[in-house]
Amino acid sequence: TVTIVWFRRDLRLTDHPALWEAAQEGAVIPLYILDPHESSGAAELWWRHQSLHKLAESLAALRLPLLLRRGDPLQILQEIIDTIAVDGVAWNRRYDPRGMAQDTAIKADLQARGLSVRSFPGDCLVEPWLHHHDQQPYKVFTPFWKSLMARFSVAPALPQADLQPLAPELTQQLSSESLSSWQLLPQQPDWASRFPEFWEPGESGAHIRLHAFLEEGLLNYSKGRDFPAQPSVSRLSPYLAHGEISPRQIWQETQSHLANHPELAAQGEHFLRELGWREFSWHLLFHFPNLPDTPLRPEFADFPWQNNEKLLYAWQRGQTGYPIVDAGMRELWQSGWMHNRVRMICASFLIKDLFVDWRKGEAWFQDTLLDFDEANNSASWQWVAGSGADAAPYFRIFNPVLQSEKFDPQGDYLRRWLPELAALPDRYIHQPWMAEANILAQAKISLGVDYPLPTVDHAQARQKALDVFQNLKKKT
Ligand code: FAD
Repeated sequence: TVTIVWFRRDLRLTDHPALWEAAQEGAVIPLYILDPHESSGAAELWWRHQSLHKLAESLAALRLPLLLRRGDPLQILQEIIDTIAVDGVAWNRRYDPRGMAQDTAIKADLQARGLSVRSFPGDCLVEPWLHHHDQQPYKVFTPFWKSLMARFSVAPALPQADLQPLAPELTQQLSSESLSSWQLLPQQPDWASRFPEFWEPGESGAHIRLHAFLEEGLLNYSKGRDFPAQPSVSRLSPYLAHGEISPRQIWQETQSHLANHPELAAQGEHFLRELGWREFSWHLLFHFPNLPDTPLRPEFADFPWQNNEKLLYAWQRGQTGYPIVDAGMRELWQSGWMHNRVRMICASFLIKDLFVDWRKGEAWFQDTLLDFDEANNSASWQWVAGSGADAAPYFRIFNPVLQSEKFDPQGDYLRRWLPELAALPDRYIHQPWMAEANILAQAKISLGVDYPLPTVDHAQARQKALDVFQNLKKKT
């Protein structure tokens, strides 16, 4: 038999259920379709280019060309099926609303043409249709996670299949586009120029990262994960977002590491619970498909956003005058990633200090994050905004100075991303406007010139946010 294996956000050869099953039955045509109607971010496209390049290389080493096509997926599949004799199509399931609708329609069409269409579990530990006993979706993380752990076991990760290529005369009939013609990489200016300093995309890069984390980062994960200058988090998120590694593989590798290092049990459990937040986000998106644009709590629908474009721009460029926010936003711009603690601070600042609609922040993150993930991004923005399911209460307003002092006490993270502040003493680096003139002069900083003065007064903004929230509560 001949099966088309349609790759999507699962750009790997190991633990790929659709590829595995298709390979058991005969020859495989690996296909990737660039769908121009899919909403993607610019940074994420940079990663996708690298990832497809690596996947094509790994397949070529097995004498299997990766077919690259751009356009409407159904039309492309139909074209291939009309060109050569194909028995079936296989894919791993998607769980985003658009992807699911597309897959359902394509499956129906191809089955009507007599093709075998098979879908397999996608990249979640457990598929997201978990319910309470009363058939309602979970809205709070802890019971969700407890229930998932109690009722399911994570399927073992699959090894790489023995792949059988299509006969060369058939392969020749199938045309493929070149990756470079898709222009996924930035043109001028090349804002991604520093990304390769931080990342090695691809399946092997993902496993190198996981093993380095298990050996070095896991030791101090529980505490260290809140300190952005420390190398205590895995940085696996871009690999997960592109499916270069599956959560099942992370689960399994972590469990076997813990079997050899029982002293790390608590750290390991914490790490796996964070992976559980990713599951929870997908569960929420599956059950609440409007999660990316509609507040889950209806009282937030008429929130009086101010949406000042200048303030939004200052936030995007890391020019708010609050060092921890600016460091985070510059880390995001320069490396395509931001530490979780700082994501929460930056998001809270945009929403509750600058009064900008969380959806504008969500869109900026979508465009600039290498790990953009529709479920995690929207669930996290709603969480910070206070409008989400298991959300931070609205009145929990991060104080950017206290957060900075607590989680970056020596200012190492701030100095890494804000070199203009590097010479300030630790005491002032979290709030340069408090430094006396002679200290600023010694550090060669002219506030308002080398580094901005604060764009807003946090204490005033906080009070305003609390007042608005009180009014919202009164209305409900
Ligand atoms: P680790 O701490 O090593 O955790 C391992 C994995 O667990 C992560 O790769 C991720 O898949 C998952 N995970 C960890 N923390 C969370 C969390 N709070 N929520 C959901 N999953 C989590 N994550 C994304 O993958 N894509 C996004 O687009 C995204 N947008 C976010 C936007 C905001 C405003 C906030 C506050 C958080 C966002 N997150 C997003 C969640 C989190 O910040 C990242 O998953 C995490 O920083 C990735 O780093 P890591 O791989 O080193 O995490």
